[in-house]
Amino acid sequence: MESIIFSGNIVQDLERFLKNKKFSKLGVIADSNSVSACYPLISETLPDHSYFSFDAGEVNKTLDTCAKIWQWMTDEGFDRKALIINLGGGVTGDMGGFCASTYKRGIRFINIPTTLLSQVDASVGGKLGIDFNGFKNHIGVFNEPEAVIISTAFLSTLPLPELRSGYAEVIKHGLIRNTNYFECLKMQDWENQNWKDIIEKSVSIKREVVEKDPKEEGLRKILNFGHTVGHAVESFYLDTERHLLHGEAIAVGMIAEAYLSKKLCGLPASDLNTIHEFLLFVFDKIAIPAEDLENITQLCFQDKKNDGKVINCSLLRRIGECDYNIPVSSEDIIESLNFYNELKK
Ligand code: NAD
Repeated sequence: MESIIFSGNIVQDLERFLKNKKFSKLGVIADSNSVSACYPLISETLPDHSYFSFDAGEVNKTLDTCAKIWQWMTDEGFDRKALIINLGGGVTGDMGGFCASTYKRGIRFINIPTTLLSQVDASVGGKLGIDFNGFKNHIGVFNEPEAVIISTAFLSTLPLPELRSGYAEVIKHGLIRNTNYFECLKMQDWENQNWKDIIEKSVSIKREVVEKDPKEEGLRKILNFGHTVGHAVESFYLDTERHLLHGEAIAVGMIAEAYLSKKLCGLPASDLNTIHEFLLFVFDKIAIPAEDLENITQLCFQDKKNDGKVINCSLLRRIGECDYNIPVSSEDIIESLNFYNELKK
């Protein structure tokens, strides 16, 4: 697996890391926000390099942006020994890693994740890719970075909604694997956490699961709890004015799938209540109009966990324990979104 460096001093740790690496050229990929908020923290540490920046946002995690990245790599004369640094959130890491993994059949890259979401989740585990014609992460590969360097220093410029978006994945880690962790999260004021501890705990949960099943043939699917419905909701609103952050959509997905967990997997009613109360305490409730439900449900058929025409979900047996490959009907999905809609904030 990739090596993960929890950095207490990003300048020193990056310098030390690069000193031990041999590369022909160095390139940095960052989006328009990470280039202004994060690049200045490391730029003076970096040896001779060039950088590529693209407009921030999930709507740019596309083949068009990849074409520009590959063109930049070509123009800069990157050969197979070049090294790429992906500096940014999950969009930068997923797309930069995908571009590096496919350029000249693959060059090395490291991730310096700068959002909570990418620090606890996206930059660990080797899933890389882009959205395609409105389908989330539809094109991609599994490949691991040379290293992931995680520093909470970057979180100081992160807007609060983005911090909260990452927090959805933190909550998910407790829900699927560790009851105590979930209980601890519930007791904290979510905005004022010891982020270093949270990140280390969440990364250890994710790594433990990914190590057992790197290619998502079984157990790794539990990391997708909340994501069958969540990705469908996120995709549906991607190109609209109601654009939702990834974690905001996953919060909706976790409530809907907690409902399905009770219906199909024996999750106790008290656990379902605890889950939706906590998620609606942290996240705003969004209204999903009845006329959107059918189309959102159709998008669930694109989920990568599906078996042919069957929607397969990862569902909770109780808080802290998750099962996978649970077949769910489109009626179940609509019912779960109706349950979400009827909840009171
Ligand atoms: P993101 O990369 O779009 O970052 C969110 C926003 O924060 C962007 O506007 C970005 O420019 C800005 N930003 C980043 N760092 C900043 C900083 N330090 N200060 C100020 N602004 C900053 O999105 P994200 O939430 O990090 O990640 C979501 C993406 O990750 C989705 O595409 C999702 O599919 C993907 N993802 C991948 C995996 C995986 O295993 N590969 C897992 C979960 C999510």
